[in-house]
Amino acid sequence: MHKVNVMKLVLLLMFNSVFYSSANAGSTDRPAESAHVPFMGSLTDLPPTIQNYPLERLSERVYVVIGPHDWPNKKTKGFMNNPAAILTDDGFVIVDPGSSADVGRGFLEKLKCVSAKPVVAVFNTHLHGDHFLGNQGIRDAYPGVPIYAHQRTIERLQAGEAQEWFERFNGMTEGALANTRIALPDRALKGGEVMKMGGVTLKIHHPRHAHSDTDIMIEVVEDKLMFMGDISMNKFMPYSAMPQDASFKGTADALKAAIDNAAIEVYVPGHGNPENKTSMAIQIRFTEDLLASIKKYYSQGMQAHEMTALVEKDLQAYRNWDHFDELGKVISHAYVEVEQDNF
Ligand SMILES: [Zn+2]
Repeated sequence: MHKVNVMKLVLLLMFNSVFYSSANAGSTDRPAESAHVPFMGSLTDLPPTIQNYPLERLSERVYVVIGPHDWPNKKTKGFMNNPAAILTDDGFVIVDPGSSADVGRGFLEKLKCVSAKPVVAVFNTHLHGDHFLGNQGIRDAYPGVPIYAHQRTIERLQAGEAQEWFERFNGMTEGALANTRIALPDRALKGGEVMKMGGVTLKIHHPRHAHSDTDIMIEVVEDKLMFMGDISMNKFMPYSAMPQDASFKGTADALKAAIDNAAIEVYVPGHGNPENKTSMAIQIRFTEDLLASIKKYYSQGMQAHEMTALVEKDLQAYRNWDHFDELGKVISHAYVEVEQDNF
């Protein structure tokens, strides 16, 4: 066998045991573990799919794969969120199984390394495609598994947004969802529920309107941990994907309420590394700074498109966040909220 092929084979055999770091994944501030692999050179040839990202244990019962920050593309096959699982006495409760059936399946494979227990429930934190399109990957393996989401998530997905998300992701990935069917959540939540699953207590929080009007945050009481969905994104420009769905003030209020919950020590964002109260507070400050800057130029009579460069300048402290270059799109929607507040 050619020497290069031998090296590739060794590399492939190893990749499940090493952290994957590529130019795409580097933005998550995670250590470039390729440094721990002598002579192997760059691992950037490995595709940035879920298979090449490690499953990490965050607390006694909670496991997560921290995904890349890229918008869906052919290389990632759409993988971009943080699929997670809670290991209960009865089996796994999965939170946001990802953006395609293949991502869901890839996540299940990783969980098998932790426990042979089945999946007993799935939760979708909100209606965006990177959080629910992976449901089918779980349903195929566990046909009767209940999938929980806020009732508004179910209403909106059923009304046509599920298909829109499917087409959007399939288009952006050039067909990575060809084998994905839509598996909608089928158990509606209102917020305020306290659910016991396999000895674990889950409290469901629903801020009326934050990242969207469909969000739930899931508190894992015994582990002092909260799944934030996309209300929280760590070093990832919030609102950049779907600013039209968001309430900017509502998101800041939801973050505040989560921080004020004294029972919580670890926060799992929808995108980016796990957080504590300090990093969550930085996200509140971003939204406050954004709205203050827009308000300043609004009161000078400027339109959204006229203030973009000025607001960008005011927010330079956040310029290293992924997708900062999409601030213009965010400003045009935040401007509408500022305008409404002034009438
Ligand atoms: Zn998301």
